[in-house]
Amino acid sequence: MSVPHARHEAVAAAHKWSNKSSNGAQQPQRVDAIFGCDVFSLRTMRQRLPKDVYRKLLKTIQRGEPLDLAVADVVAAAMKDWAIENGATHYTHWFQPLTGQTAEKHDSLIVPDGEGGMLFALSGADLCQGEPDASSFPSGGLRATFEARGYTAWDATSPAFLLRGENNVTLCIPTAFVSWTGAALDKKTPLLRSMDALSKQALRVLRLFGTAEGVDRVYTTVGAEQEYFLVDRNLYYARPDLVTCERTLFGARPPKGQQLEDHYFGSIPPRVLAFMAESEKELYRVGVPVKTRHNEVAPGQYELAPLFENSNVACDHQMLIMETLKRVAPRYGLQAILHEKPFAGINGSGKHNNWSMSTDTGVNLLDPRDDTHTNLQFMTFMCAVIRAVDLHADLLRASIASANNDHRLGANEAPPAIISIFLGDMLTDIVEQLEQGLPERTLKGGRIDLGARTLPQIPRHAGDRNRTSPFAFTGNKFEFRAVGSSSAAAWPNTVLNTIVAESLDYVATEIEKAVGTEPAPDKLQSAVLALLKGIIKQHKRVIFNGDNYSAEWHREADARGLPHLRNTVDAMPVLMADKSVQIFRKYQVLDKAELESRFVAYTERYVKQVLIEAESMVTIARQMILPAAMQHQRRTAEAVAAAKSAGVEVAAQQKCLGEFVQLASRFGDATAALAATLNHATGDEPLTHARYLRDKTIPQMAALRTLGDELENQIAADLWPLPTYRELLFIK
Ligand code: ADP
Ligand code: MG
Repeated sequence: MSVPHARHEAVAAAHKWSNKSSNGAQQPQRVDAIFGCDVFSLRTMRQRLPKDVYRKLLKTIQRGEPLDLAVADVVAAAMKDWAIENGATHYTHWFQPLTGQTAEKHDSLIVPDGEGGMLFALSGADLCQGEPDASSFPSGGLRATFEARGYTAWDATSPAFLLRGENNVTLCIPTAFVSWTGAALDKKTPLLRSMDALSKQALRVLRLFGTAEGVDRVYTTVGAEQEYFLVDRNLYYARPDLVTCERTLFGARPPKGQQLEDHYFGSIPPRVLAFMAESEKELYRVGVPVKTRHNEVAPGQYELAPLFENSNVACDHQMLIMETLKRVAPRYGLQAILHEKPFAGINGSGKHNNWSMSTDTGVNLLDPRDDTHTNLQFMTFMCAVIRAVDLHADLLRASIASANNDHRLGANEAPPAIISIFLGDMLTDIVEQLEQGLPERTLKGGRIDLGARTLPQIPRHAGDRNRTSPFAFTGNKFEFRAVGSSSAAAWPNTVLNTIVAESLDYVATEIEKAVGTEPAPDKLQSAVLALLKGIIKQHKRVIFNGDNYSAEWHREADARGLPHLRNTVDAMPVLMADKSVQIFRKYQVLDKAELESRFVAYTERYVKQVLIEAESMVTIARQMILPAAMQHQRRTAEAVAAAKSAGVEVAAQQKCLGEFVQLASRFGDATAALAATLNHATGDEPLTHARYLRDKTIPQMAALRTLGDELENQIAADLWPLPTYRELLFIK
């Protein structure tokens, strides 16, 4: 009996494989072995650094201990070796200025050796500090107040990575960007400070519950789902509005929009899937743990979601995700559009910011765990978040305000601009019982211990879902859905961490006042129950489980006294309110000058953006739409004249022509009216200017658009100069 050798081997291999899969004892395959690894990960560091250096660095990374400069020298050398082995020639301090993008200035890793040759070198000082020419980044006046220079400082807690381009590899070192006095000029510095503040207060609460054993730090965690559109790149280039503003300033609705609801979770078009796969591979290489991909609600809209990580790393990775989508799409003839509302009348894009708090030992503090003891702890953290969101709903709203997001918030699909919390029926019921005293029952029977002495047990996954809430509890985390798709996640998370730190401080202080720092369990329980009862009484108005889009809710929210800041201009002043200044100062996240700089920079950004959009509209109207209208008019007029001279009755066509001429004239007038608003108000304070643009320019833009879209519906297809919505959204 002779089995040919090759076949024999194949059979043996198949056996081995099937045994492996059946007993589940497969060795995990390393992803970097397949896709390569461009991240200077802990694993790489462990392999390349001397043990003591690695241990010291780990203390900085995991416990936030200050970094020793001697350690930095050794790390720099290892990082450089790793980078050049992987083809790098340059390095950059990678940071997040207030522009909302990332910035990089490349320096060569190559230095002269003094003998006419060249060496690769990166010193500890190069690693730790850089001095980019900071004067052209927005600082909201901050640098002027202090000094023109800005520094970048290595953030060892976010891993360095390689950025690959055609014929170039650059070592990217995540950094904070500060003025020489230490004032934060970026988005990372306040985020790190807010994480510290929250950790400190959360630890106090854990100590009171006796659950702080072995815990050094509490991290906030973020997993942000990124929505985006893809359009064909040739069509994109034929739309100056998309190129300049990332959104269509004109565009009539197509007969088939998203009414059929057939796109969500539908099968992914092949070209799109190829693009997704390549983006994901690039993201894996730089250590971004991408998990899910799918079609979104609108035609041409997609989503990518990573696994959650600590907020700092997650926010850096968010930037990488956005940049990677943009970079990879052109390779497939596509353009990735991250704007919050690129197409009128069709769902916009958000960045659902899933957020929780977790100990460094891996306990999710918003996970309603099984035993009653930690359940009370869970309710305490939960109530602290409820209190924070109610007290600072306006600040949260301001943290996500932008000209882009104004098109989305409050429009019919996105969460409204009123910040409220969705808890779900079951948790709401428990909260209501807490308000009465000791909860005794739980809705939806079965799983819950009715006789519990303290609090009932809560099933991990609340069954109900609500897609309309801006801030929803989803089983073991909150989902802040109002964050805009194109915005950096760092700022809203900074605000969220800070306001929750303040609430945890309040909770810890109140409990300590009542029962001291080492309370006996029964005393702790009654003190906590009394405290939570008070919190719920005062702050339950922010809880709402119904339809957040409905007009009734808007009325109800008004009656409850919840802030309704309809647009960026309404929201921005909240940043400078006393309450905001105080909370940021108290938790050392931002001092008043730093906060003011954000207020100024974000308001200026609004002004610039609206101006660019309005100017683009005027240009498109004059250079593209009006000429097309004139041609259409002439063509129609010639046809009418020809018919007339042939002796045919054309009263109806003549009437049409007359109406068209009127429409085109109104369009011309509206263009002039919009242009007129642009000459006004330059040189005003940013907020005054912003207000003018909101009240005069934006309504005029809307009026012009309506007329433009009517023209689109009438002008002959071969004369219409812009790719249509149908072409943009349905060519895949
Ligand atoms: P859902 O289907 O409820 O939206 P998923 O489990 O699919 O929930 O998670 C959606 C996003 O939430 C993912 O990015 C995930 O990483 C993130 N996420 C899950 N748990 C947490 C947590 N504890 N903290 C922050 N984000 C989380
Ligand atoms: Mg989700």
